This record gives sequence, structure tokens and C-alpha cells, in this order.
Amino acid sequence: MGVGVLQQYRDLLPVNEETPIFSMGEGDTPLVRSRQLGPELGCSDLFFKLEGCNPTGSFKDRGMVVAMAKALEERSVGVMCASTGNTSASAAAYAAYCNLAAWVLIPKGEVALGKLAQAMAYGARILLVDGNFDAALALVREFTKTNPITLVNSVNQHRIEGQKTAAFEISDVLEDAPDYLFIPVGNAGNITAYWRGFVEYHQLGRNEILPKMMGFQAEGAAPIVRGEPVPYPQTIASAIRIGNPASWKFAERARDQSGGVIDAVSDDEILEAYRLLASREGIFGEPASAASVAGLIKLKHNGLDLTGKRVVCIITGSGLKDPDMAVSSAQADTVEVKPNLEAIENAIMETLPAR
Ligand SMILES: *Cc1c(COP(=O)(O)O)cnc(C)c1O
Repeated sequence: MGVGVLQQYRDLLPVNEETPIFSMGEGDTPLVRSRQLGPELGCSDLFFKLEGCNPTGSFKDRGMVVAMAKALEERSVGVMCASTGNTSASAAAYAAYCNLAAWVLIPKGEVALGKLAQAMAYGARILLVDGNFDAALALVREFTKTNPITLVNSVNQHRIEGQKTAAFEISDVLEDAPDYLFIPVGNAGNITAYWRGFVEYHQLGRNEILPKMMGFQAEGAAPIVRGEPVPYPQTIASAIRIGNPASWKFAERARDQSGGVIDAVSDDEILEAYRLLASREGIFGEPASAASVAGLIKLKHNGLDLTGKRVVCIITGSGLKDPDMAVSSAQADTVEVKPNLEAIENAIMETLPAR
């Protein structure tokens, strides 16, 4: 472990003698056991997979390292993507590492500040599109059809191949797949990738269990739940603000073959889960990541029995990506004090937790 996903899982990835093997440290992310939320939800075996621990702070790095290695193998001059933020951050970083040009199309005004900062810092060429993610992706698909630039959105199958390694890791650590996997759904590439990973391990005899895939969209951006594209998707969770997912059919297949669900959670439910995750588990995920936990809480309240079940929630990206959301939704009080010991003592006495 710790050698990067290309090296660790090369036998199960589209790697040949021509493919450069490198790593920026992606993969091998922590699987942390819940200490509070799990027991409170009647689930003694709940884990969080911390994908925010990848090099650019989201799971996108797993697929990007494979897509970038293949782009190098094919002697591409550059890469291009549409992005709600994390794909552009990842593409920009890996392109910088590989000395390739990166063009990123970003819906103007809809991307969290930390992600935009990353794309800028890594030196991507940033095009702010006066439209939403779906419009930007359509443009990238059209452009890369006729130009020798590699598309690195998750319609690029190398992205999905890389992302499936997270399912391998969970299975390796737990020595089987979990019973349930809860995961946010945006463009639906990740739920597709996890299902592929679990199925491949099952076929290899490394898993006995095939998990039920439990995908969650935001209510204002829930095309799969509604059964039709959403022209103007709305949600505070910008990473899943997508109205026409590229991997729609594959996500439905993952749901149906696994006996799972794809459901929606409201922005209020997402924010509540976002706060609980940080304040009760010490895990700071970005709002979209909290959709998995919001989904778990919702289904539990609707009567899902998790007794004796092993459950994994995917925390897809770091909370530091979206500092505005963290500050504006915070419930923690700040206390102003004079710079002397008495003021500190008084303030501490007032804020001691009740025992
Ligand atoms: C990309 C992303 C998602 C959505 O993943 P899809 O593959 O588009 O369904 C969820 N959370 C975060 C943090 C992301 O970056």
C-alpha cells in the first residue's frame, strides 16, 4: 500500500508495458470506524472512507492518475475537462506533474472557492462558461471529438477504471465487501466505478459479498430519482449539482443489479449530516460528501434495519474545498476575550461542557 493505484492494482487496470507508472500519492485512503453516529443509528459496524485524503482532496485523483498515464502513453499534448470543481483541481495537478497542458471549463460562479484556487495554483487554463456543468460537458465532448486533446471527464473509461480501486481497498481492508455502500451521486461515474470494482473482486473470488449500492442525489439535482433530466439543477452541494449525468444508465444498472436504491436528500438534510460528521466524528467532508451520510440517516428514519450489517459511507472530498460553506453554516460560537488570564478563565468557565 501507499505506492499509488497504478502500481498497487496494475493487474486490474488498463496498464501495459507502454504505460508510465507514477503516483502523486493517491489511494490507500483511511477507512475510519464511526464512534458515535453508527451506534446512534443502530449500526455497530459503520465506516467512513476518507477520499478527501487524496493529493488534491477528492477521489477524482484515483481516476485522474490512470487517465493521465494513458494520455502520456498516447502522446497527447494536453487534457481537457468540464468540472464542478474537483475534476479540474485534479486534472490541473496531474497535468502539472506530467508536464501536459490542461484546459478546464468551469460553470461561472458555481464552483467552490478552494477548488478554483487549486486549478489556478496548478496553472490550468481556466475557461469560465456562462452556463451550468451539463452545458460545459457537452462543449468539451464536442471539442475533443475533433481535436487531439484528451477528455478527462468520467466519460473517459480510464477515469472509471482508476476510481474502482476504492472498492478494492475497502474489500482488502475489511476482508470482504460491506453489506451497504452509501455514496453521493452527481455525474454518476463514481457509483459506476465502485460497482465495477466490487463485481470484479467478486468474480476473482476476493469478495463473497456484493454490497447494496445506495446512491444519493440532492433534491434539486435528482434526475435519476425523477426519471428525467433537470435543466436547472440547484443545490448547495456544488459537486453534485448535475442535471443530466453522463453515467446515468450505469448508475441504474448498479442500483438494480445490487438491489440498492438511488434516492434524494434535501439541502437541509445534507447540511445537517455535514455538521454531524464534523462535530460528532471529527470528519470534515465537503457538502456533497455529506449526502452519503444524509442518505443513511434518512433511510434509517424510514425504517431500514442495519442490525449486524456492515456499512461504508464514502466521504468523497475534503471540507476545506468549500470554506464559505463551512463558515456560513457553522454553529460554533466565537468568544472575544481581552488578552489576560482572568478573561480566559471566565470564558472557559462559561463554555465548559455539562457533565
Ligand atoms: C465528483 C464528486 C462527486 C460526484 O461524483 P460522480 O462521479 O460525479 O457521481 C461527489 N462528491 C465530490 C466531492 C466530488 O468531487
